[in-house]
Amino acid sequence: MPLSERFAPPLKPAVSELASYAVTEAVSRGRQFAEPRPKARGEFQRDRDRIIHSTAFRRLEYKTQVFVNHEGDLFRTRLTHSIEVAQIARSVARALRLNDDLAEAIALAHDLGHTPFGHAGQDALNECMAEHGGFEHNLQSLRIVDQLEERYGAFDGLNLMYETRAGILKHCAPDHARTLGEVARRFVENLRPSLEAQVCNLADEIAYNNHDVDDGLRSGLISLEQLEAVSLFARHIQAAREEFPHIAGRRLIHETVRRMIDAQVTDLLAETSRRLAQSGVATLQDVERAPPLVGFSATMAEENRELKRFLYHKLYRHYQVVRMTNKARRIIRDLFAAFHSEPRLLPPQYQARAEQEGLPRAIADYIAGMTDRYAIKEHRRLFAVEEVYGG
Ligand code: MG
Repeated sequence: MPLSERFAPPLKPAVSELASYAVTEAVSRGRQFAEPRPKARGEFQRDRDRIIHSTAFRRLEYKTQVFVNHEGDLFRTRLTHSIEVAQIARSVARALRLNDDLAEAIALAHDLGHTPFGHAGQDALNECMAEHGGFEHNLQSLRIVDQLEERYGAFDGLNLMYETRAGILKHCAPDHARTLGEVARRFVENLRPSLEAQVCNLADEIAYNNHDVDDGLRSGLISLEQLEAVSLFARHIQAAREEFPHIAGRRLIHETVRRMIDAQVTDLLAETSRRLAQSGVATLQDVERAPPLVGFSATMAEENRELKRFLYHKLYRHYQVVRMTNKARRIIRDLFAAFHSEPRLLPPQYQARAEQEGLPRAIADYIAGMTDRYAIKEHRRLFAVEEVYGG
């Protein structure tokens, strides 16, 4: 076959247009600050690109997913997790003829507000902030893209499209939603998020459940034998062994995990397509008022819950993980208490922020922005006697 034919583009794109209930630029509520249209890309592509170029996005490389960054080079970090979520979200969105640029943007931004040390870090910071409005990583993700990124002359934050911002805001208590205004409207009026945002939530679950199986096995904290009691895993390791009787080790694990991801994505597509057809939704407004439309079948939902229960008890509650999370909590509490009792320990820009936002929120912004290793270093700088002259 001549080279030109081999590389010729397909005659017709696989998907020619978006579904009528997808988010499009035409139905978007747009940006907070008016800007000229992008020259050679769409508005939601521009959002994705702004997120990738943000400081908060680069920090994800050194933030814990489950395993602390320095425990091994091959474990997922928040960055690789976010990229896996984006991959699944984009594929699912495209297959459902949804706006895959929007799904990708939401997925890449969904964990920007995470503290160092994963959920343990968030819980500790939330306790420290109990009397000052609390701390929640979804709200912090929105705060980062709306206010904290300092990149543009004309505005604070990234000035993202309304639908990207609303998609990032996954949870919000109704009382708090009232203070956030339009972007949190759905929590006040009990409306559903866009299908692209719903896809991201499920893509997040599929990504972390499966990569935590992989990382859990890699760490040795859980074993193949234990996992074979989980039906989703058992079925797919059996299928992998039947197809490739001689494989073992990492190759067997990968053949199993990739089958699990494929089964979950395939189920999600079938069940969501069924619900979309049955509900008769035709517009974005219909989606807001319909029950959740993106989801697993009842069987897969139960298998997914079983897998989550397993991971919770055997991995997240494993004593070696608990030792790490306990230490992480202490680091966050110590840092918060030190800055709270002596605000002059804060870098000058956060002292300035404290004047505007109040001291506790400025401390929370500073701590939430830290990577794992930065938090460990800062803790050492503040508490280790031998570091007293260190900067
Ligand atoms: Mg996530």
